[in-house]
Amino acid sequence: MMEKNGMSDQDRPDTTGNAKDPDAQATRKMQFLFTLRSKGITDQRVLTAMEKIDRGDYVRGLFAERAYEDMPLPIACGQTISQPSIVGLMTQALSVNSRDMVLEIGTGSGYQAAILSQLARRVYTIDRHRKLVADASTLFAQKGLNNITAVTGDGSYGMPEQGPFDRIIVTAAAEDPPGPLLAQLKISGIMVVPVGQSDMVQSLIKVTRLATGFDYLQLRQVRFVPLMEGVAND
Ligand code: SAH
Repeated sequence: MMEKNGMSDQDRPDTTGNAKDPDAQATRKMQFLFTLRSKGITDQRVLTAMEKIDRGDYVRGLFAERAYEDMPLPIACGQTISQPSIVGLMTQALSVNSRDMVLEIGTGSGYQAAILSQLARRVYTIDRHRKLVADASTLFAQKGLNNITAVTGDGSYGMPEQGPFDRIIVTAAAEDPPGPLLAQLKISGIMVVPVGQSDMVQSLIKVTRLATGFDYLQLRQVRFVPLMEGVAND
């Protein structure tokens, strides 16, 4: 291989590192999108949003160089940034329209909110860790993502003052879809939420609000950090 194309290991594009080399960046982006497609993300609007939002901006420190791999990674406050293909599948299941008001529970790194900001009119996102909300807000401002509002709070109660919402996405696992969130979903609105006990495999559920009640569709198995009670100390 090395002899065939006349490249030494040093010349070869770095597909995992944080190299600023434009060729390496293009290769990495292509591989990233290829993986997303192969894992079932076919909605072109979602793929375009995920091409535009650089996951490398949302992963800091030791793990930054693994930002383009399809795996969850640690972030501050003992939390995780979700796996890109799961972010893609959840975003796709949410069928976001450009006029939609979206609520996210679990800001974390801000990556999921940034992708939603490309698809929706406005995104509200809540996390129980002040530091995560502060860091994500700084990033949103730097990147000009002006249609995202990040707030510290217990997301299980939603944001009644801004609701009802067209779309709600929960990125931490609940034992059941929280009642206040169901109540803040518009009729015809969609909520995507991982449901199940913490530390076990959970089911990703798509809830659609009908005029007469709720329709539940099980999408796949996932593994998320648990939805915790109350606001954290950091
Ligand atoms: N969507 C994030 C990943 C979230 S990880 C991203 O794109 O990076 C789950 C997040 O849910 C954690 O940051 C955790 O602090 C938060 N969380 C857990 N319980 C919560 C609650 N009750 N209210 C708000 N946020 C909560």
